[in-house]
Amino acid sequence: MGSGQVTSTSELFDFQGKHVTVAGLGVSGVPAAKVLHARGAIVTVVNDGDDARAREQAAGLQALGITVRLGDGATLPEGTELIVTAPGWKPDKPLFAAAAEKGVPVWGDVELAWRLRGPGAAPWLAVTGTNGKTTTVQMLASILRAAGLRTAAVGNIGVSLLDVVLGDEEYDVLAVELSSYQLHWAPSLRAHSAVVLNLAPDHLDWHGSMEAYAKDKGRIYEGNRVACVYNVADKLTEELVREAEVEEGCRAVGFTLGTPAPSQLGVVDGILVDRAFVANRQKNAQELAEVSDINPPAPHNIANALAAAALARAFGVPAQAVRDGLRAFRPDAHRIAHVADLDGVAYIDDSKATNTHATEASLAAYESIVWIAGGLAKGATFDELVAKSAKRLRGAVLIGADRELIREALARHAPEVPVVELDRTDTGAMLQAVTEARRLARPGDTVLLAPACASMDMFTNYNERGDAFAAAVRELGAGA
Ligand code: ADP
Repeated sequence: MGSGQVTSTSELFDFQGKHVTVAGLGVSGVPAAKVLHARGAIVTVVNDGDDARAREQAAGLQALGITVRLGDGATLPEGTELIVTAPGWKPDKPLFAAAAEKGVPVWGDVELAWRLRGPGAAPWLAVTGTNGKTTTVQMLASILRAAGLRTAAVGNIGVSLLDVVLGDEEYDVLAVELSSYQLHWAPSLRAHSAVVLNLAPDHLDWHGSMEAYAKDKGRIYEGNRVACVYNVADKLTEELVREAEVEEGCRAVGFTLGTPAPSQLGVVDGILVDRAFVANRQKNAQELAEVSDINPPAPHNIANALAAAALARAFGVPAQAVRDGLRAFRPDAHRIAHVADLDGVAYIDDSKATNTHATEASLAAYESIVWIAGGLAKGATFDELVAKSAKRLRGAVLIGADRELIREALARHAPEVPVVELDRTDTGAMLQAVTEARRLARPGDTVLLAPACASMDMFTNYNERGDAFAAAVRELGAGA
């Protein structure tokens, strides 16, 4: 099984007596400040806000002897030797300009965890991409567990890497989800193997440009030891592999929904096949699993499964564990979740499809769809999505603040598709949306909530939106 133990401690950092500025209180800032303080650093926390919550957090840190400056996140404290920032802080903040001028390094939460992990710590199999990250790390963790390895799905998925790295639990390998923000601030991260699943414009306001976004995603390949896994259908991901500085002997491995070439994983007659991690890959291929082992077997999810399998195989996991792990995998809520069938129509909740790239994948998974969409567009345009998906649409029900943008795209590219628009945003809106969708649907159709938008105009988050959809479907079912 994968070698990949950390043998060198040269990159570990001695914090004793160092002046470290922690930028931002909150989920990552408070624990970072505490651990740095415990390691002997002289810590100052700076925070933009000065509200009640911030004061409460500040009081807790001050009691430990940590300096906290509320209401001033812009000024670099005198003598700062290192900044540890919350990953969400935008790179164009004045604090970072001041740091750059003085040559002060900036680390994010992931970099801090990476530096603090001890010698002999578990290697990281790292996953990023615009969509599919969470699903892929969960599939990966499931496969690794099926191989008998001690592992966890951690990182951007909601499990703090710092907690994992400093905790008592021992791991053989970690399945790590990384966001583009985290990668931006993680200069010395070196994964065992990594994948960029796909790249579509997202978070460009934060990164400044598509080039900058892609470059940050590409950081995940830097220093990989065994495999850089890329998406054959997404040339940009392959380019990022080419640009990366990797360890001698590290391989580029592609995944494809088609027949795999040597050094790729792919699909042949409904079977997931490995032509990368086999002896004599010019001639040989290894069967890993069947498409029907994947839950749900939608095309984008098959791609996620192949990416997870590639990382697991790079770590030396046997084929049987790939199959067992994929079979054991259950997707998180609101990701293509089948809610119910009513009158021969399937109702699917993909509330997590919050951008057009995700929704495109979701719509591609069904033949004839009544599409429920809309919400906050976050600057997105819908022409490409609608043009690509038009032939699958039986009808559309539009909700939320930016529904007009989708209506206009439908008028341009799918004028024959019937559209119902709801201008209400109250709690009853989803029930009406599902009722309208049911009216438009024919037996064999799918009513698909894949909004291509954020939810916060009508709901607390995508979970609540998906729950409202499921509740509405059940209410209709009860009254059927
Ligand atoms: P992330 O963690 O990157 O947000 P998730 O696994 O939570 O990704 O999936 C989010 C949504 O993205 C899903 O609901 C689905 O609509 C879509 N999606 C998942 N995997 C892919 C993929 N490989 N390509 C495109 N869209 C995808």
